[in-house]
Amino acid sequence: MEYKTAELHLETSRLMGVDFLPIGELQSNEDKQSLLDELRVDHDKSCPHCTNATGYTNTVFGTGSPDASVMFIGEAPGTEEDKQGVPFVGAAGKKLDQIIEAMGFRRADVYIANTLKSRPPDNRTPTPEEVARCGPYLKSQIVIIAPSVIVTLGSPASKYILGTTTGITRLRGAWGTYEGIPVMPTYHPAYLLRNYTTETRTQVWSDMKQVIEKLSL
Ligand code: URA
Repeated sequence: MEYKTAELHLETSRLMGVDFLPIGELQSNEDKQSLLDELRVDHDKSCPHCTNATGYTNTVFGTGSPDASVMFIGEAPGTEEDKQGVPFVGAAGKKLDQIIEAMGFRRADVYIANTLKSRPPDNRTPTPEEVARCGPYLKSQIVIIAPSVIVTLGSPASKYILGTTTGITRLRGAWGTYEGIPVMPTYHPAYLLRNYTTETRTQVWSDMKQVIEKLSL
């Protein structure tokens, strides 16, 4: 199914009273991958944020299994991600890989994306306005992948997906939902590396244990 056709299908279902119909339930792995490929092309051509942003090298769309049960959402590409066009390949990415492996997954089993697909100048935190312009593409990725659980890493992703202004310290560890999908907000791996204490490590691991438990239900 083409991306535009899928959108139309969703819109028709909504008009018929179906609040949320994940495309994922209707698609094979290859279909989902081709929808993601189309979305990527559409993003790079039309994203109101990224097409007007300057100072970045590559957009960073997302990586992993189109049929992932868990989707991790970070903030924005850093220096290394900008160079390679792949999310979480720097120091924070290595920490995220360790977390994913400790949960019993390989990186290729999950899907990893960011709230913003181009690197902000000087590595600064994305503004809510930037996220609001690029974020709908992330939301389309969620519709296509239809994960069983979303893990938001840090404040910008958690605030955007949960539609709140509450910060990560108060959000983390408690389930939220996005379009019927359970969302677990946790600390960003870069924050964890900067504050590498027994307390923060225990908190992140406790959040991930809740994710594992949810997936096994
Ligand atoms: N930090 C993020 O939030 N995303 C990346 O892709 C890399 C670092």
